Amino acid sequence: MKAFDKRVKIVATIGPASGSSSVIRDLIQKGVNVFRLNFSHGDHETHRNTIRKIRSVTDRLGVDVAVLADLQGPKIRTRATEGNRPVEVKTGSLVRITSRNVISDATVISVDYGKLAKEVGAGQQIMINDGAIRLKVTGIGKNGDLIAKVLSGGEYASHKGVNFPDVDLSIPSLTRKDRSDLDFILKEDIQFIALSFVRKAQDVISLRKIIEKKRQDIKIIAKIEKPEAARAIDSILDHTDGIMVARGDLGVEATPFTVPILQKELILHANARAKLVIVATQMLESMIQHPLPTRAESTDVANAIIDGTDAIMLSGETAMGKYPGEAVATMAQIVQETEKSRFINHDMVDLTRNDRSAAHALCEAAVWAGRDLGGIPLCVFTLSGSTALYLSKLHYEAPIIAFSPENQVVKMLSLAWNITAVPLPFITDIEELHTSGEAKMLERKWVKRGDFIGIISGTNSIRGATNTFRIRKVGGV
Ligand code: PEP
Repeated sequence: MKAFDKRVKIVATIGPASGSSSVIRDLIQKGVNVFRLNFSHGDHETHRNTIRKIRSVTDRLGVDVAVLADLQGPKIRTRATEGNRPVEVKTGSLVRITSRNVISDATVISVDYGKLAKEVGAGQQIMINDGAIRLKVTGIGKNGDLIAKVLSGGEYASHKGVNFPDVDLSIPSLTRKDRSDLDFILKEDIQFIALSFVRKAQDVISLRKIIEKKRQDIKIIAKIEKPEAARAIDSILDHTDGIMVARGDLGVEATPFTVPILQKELILHANARAKLVIVATQMLESMIQHPLPTRAESTDVANAIIDGTDAIMLSGETAMGKYPGEAVATMAQIVQETEKSRFINHDMVDLTRNDRSAAHALCEAAVWAGRDLGGIPLCVFTLSGSTALYLSKLHYEAPIIAFSPENQVVKMLSLAWNITAVPLPFITDIEELHTSGEAKMLERKWVKRGDFIGIISGTNSIRGATNTFRIRKVGGV
């Protein structure tokens, strides 16, 4: 894929199927903009090696991608099955759910949470493996094991998610494992940290406090996968840099029937607040096994694009599927086909409703002027990336090029809708700054002499100093 070939960005989860340099390279060339490292799996050494490989491939290709570290959070999981093989649990049977560290099978399911007997009681439901298995607790057995009846049977394997939708568990939002993962992450070349199972704004504030001591340049993505988080979305958006519509657990905790409308609502709220948004999980699930998607899956991907998301995410498809390259290429093709259609909403979101600033006003003016001139490229010179994000949220359809002297900002903008970000050294003379941005665009053949371009920048080279919009002819004034 070349610059400007698609506006919606693709996030791909790295796993055994995609951890090699050659697959990473292939996925980038097919359209990946952000790699997700899932800290529910893999050790620090593996993640460190993956980051090194990603950076060496991008250096060789001369492109920028972002890395998102997804913390496991207070997710309870099954412990290992024999040989990590899938196990079938039959409808109507009785099973034991135990905190004891034993091998899990069809009748004893070991989970990594110690307070089962204290916090879960008779009549409450337990969902295993994204709801593939549904249980109802009938009582407490010996050793504090829960005894449960299988209401709906299915398969599970090692490290599959276990949800307790009727229980408010006392597990903290950042577990001991998350804190140790954070110590590692904060030393690495990472742009985003995704916080799992956010319940309220305070969860994001607590993470922010830890991050800010060491790395103010890392952005937070709050994963919305619990109904209480969806209800508290406005206060969560006050504190997070972006959200992920984490449909896997959301579908288990809030039922699959409510997910489509929750997805639309969450995207709408995030866009109105100029916050990043990713739609995740089961987007092309059947491509874990097959080289082509189902019609329902390609329609789901297209609908997320039409809903106005910044990015769409692949999980198992690229982490452990048989066809990681095909999954990315399929997504990219759906993006391109959908973006050609008349169903993409390019109406400007009224960003000033929540926050009046010169940068918003200038971005709106730039979009009007850019459209008036038939869709000229808009360039934004940005230190923190925030002016570029406003422009992206206004859904300007022609190229948006963001220049920044901060490599971290350039990589971070890989996630934002329709932004192509380019590193450009810090220059205090504004005329010289614009000319050097223009030179970069000429060099890459994105513009030619005499073309109109729109430029948003500040006359002072400090953060938050955006105060000018100008139109100039490339090579002229
Ligand atoms: C989800 O539940 O949709 C999700 C993205 O979370 P994870 O894959 O980390 O469980």
